[in-house]
Amino acid sequence: MTDPAAVDLHTHSVFSDGTLTPQALAHRAAARGVRLWALTDHDDTAGCAEAAQAAHGAGIDFLAGVEISVTFAGETVHIVGLGVDPDHPPLAEGLRAIRALRATRAQAMGDELARLGWRDAYAGALALAGSAHRITRTHFARHLVASGRFPAMRDVFKRVLGDGKPGHVAQAWAPLSDALGWIHGAGGQAVVVHPARYRLSPNAEWALFHDFAGHGGNAVEVASASHWPEEVARYAEIAEEFGLTASRGSDFHDPLESRVDLGGGPALPAGCAPVWPALAERVQRA
Ligand code: AMP
Ligand code: MN
Ligand code: MN
Ligand code: MN
Repeated sequence: MTDPAAVDLHTHSVFSDGTLTPQALAHRAAARGVRLWALTDHDDTAGCAEAAQAAHGAGIDFLAGVEISVTFAGETVHIVGLGVDPDHPPLAEGLRAIRALRATRAQAMGDELARLGWRDAYAGALALAGSAHRITRTHFARHLVASGRFPAMRDVFKRVLGDGKPGHVAQAWAPLSDALGWIHGAGGQAVVVHPARYRLSPNAEWALFHDFAGHGGNAVEVASASHWPEEVARYAEIAEEFGLTASRGSDFHDPLESRVDLGGGPALPAGCAPVWPALAERVQRA
């Protein structure tokens, strides 16, 4: 079985808010010792074909993936689908609908930022994203840093783009049950990623895992690069409590912005059942 330290199942490319092409990611992952890699762009699988080919060229195993924006109990929650067939119609249609929401929300966010004095924000984010349907808050933040308005991305999120801040536009994304249906219909496994980063009350968090497991959800991203050691231990326990397997991912976006490189982040605790054996038939082998 693949060594968990050589697994990275959460990464972003230029097909969402990452800055590397799938080709560059594949080679960087291989150079960093990754042996099993998944590309998981936000609400988009358009990079997976190039990624699969590049992974083959770089000599590493590949899983097609996607990070789906979901709204649960009024909060945004991210559900990654691993080993999906990107062309499965309900998944492709569902993601297309979410990207349409992204485009209108980006316009609204651009309007808010213009009111705050940054009139070029929408044009700047659009230029970085390449398509209105792909714009994320990351693109707005990058533009505001690149044009000298803020020293760093984290300052933009802290002051204007973080949840509830003046430039943030709340969006109702997909229902949890829809996202799980699309992922399972497309042959994939569903993962709650970076669970410690949500603003859910203890009750709402319990309900999230209860509903996720009840709808056949599969795994928790226990070894997230965004998790402190106590959080890794806590979500290993939650995975066990709900009968879920465990995933590992860096959530890599960019060599300079991301704190952790491809393949980096905490180890999977001993005793956690990894998600990837269930995906053996979905892996595109090197
Ligand atoms: P969106 O899906 O458009 O709301 O954008 C969410 C993206 O913004 C996430 O996937 C992260 O890449 C990025 N992001 C969210 N919060 C922060 C933060 N505090 N610092 C840096 N990036 C963030
Ligand atoms: Mn992102
Ligand atoms: Mn996320
Ligand atoms: Mn991510």
